[in-house]
Amino acid sequence: MAVYLCHEFPDLYEHEATVLDAAPGRVVLDRSAFHPGGGGQVSDTGWLDHAGGTVDVTRIDHVDGAVWHVLADDALELSGAVVVRVDHERRSRVAQLHTDSHILNALVYESFPGTLVTGAQINDDGTGRMDFDLSAVDNDVLRGLDAGVNTVISSGLEVRSVYVGADDAATVAGLVRSLSVAPPPTPDGTLRVIDIAGVDRQACGGTHLSNTAQSRPFRITKVENKGKRNRRIRFMLD
Ligand SMILES: [Zn+2]
Repeated sequence: MAVYLCHEFPDLYEHEATVLDAAPGRVVLDRSAFHPGGGGQVSDTGWLDHAGGTVDVTRIDHVDGAVWHVLADDALELSGAVVVRVDHERRSRVAQLHTDSHILNALVYESFPGTLVTGAQINDDGTGRMDFDLSAVDNDVLRGLDAGVNTVISSGLEVRSVYVGADDAATVAGLVRSLSVAPPPTPDGTLRVIDIAGVDRQACGGTHLSNTAQSRPFRITKVENKGKRNRRIRFMLD
């Protein structure tokens, strides 16, 4: 049911794989635990161990449905068996911030009912931003929401991923509240939903923690006006 290997096995950081297609500096693999990015989240990075050594994977490129692992050595052309290794630390940093952004999203939605997300970016350096379709709101109120996020973090709530029928999802208010953070479709037409117990249920294809307590504290660094209707909230792991 899961679209990505990293959804099915969130704790899989190392595994064997076979090169299906190759060009200088890039490969397509038969399986990969790398999160391919999307929905405002950067892709995983890591390494491939091959017959001749180890090469860094710097990003994932999507070309006509194929998932290309882009290598730091742009002359290297791989074939055969490799070992995939995901950068665990970087994945964790992104997952913390991504999970925190769900909590922030829920608090904004609760404080200003019906608010939609118009954009999101989760970077690998422990910073990110979310844009909300919000007019006529006090930016200081938004800036103060990090206290609520930190309360949820320290409450140690369970974070689960569940799959629901896309038709059901359409009828649950607030479940698909993003305008641009579209979750990936699954082959059987279900939607992956991230459930933070009692706080948030949100369709999402990113990487998350399994408990909110795994996040470092969260800080809102800036709130900016982006046009008449949009507010941009910038944040970071503290
Ligand atoms: Zn998410």
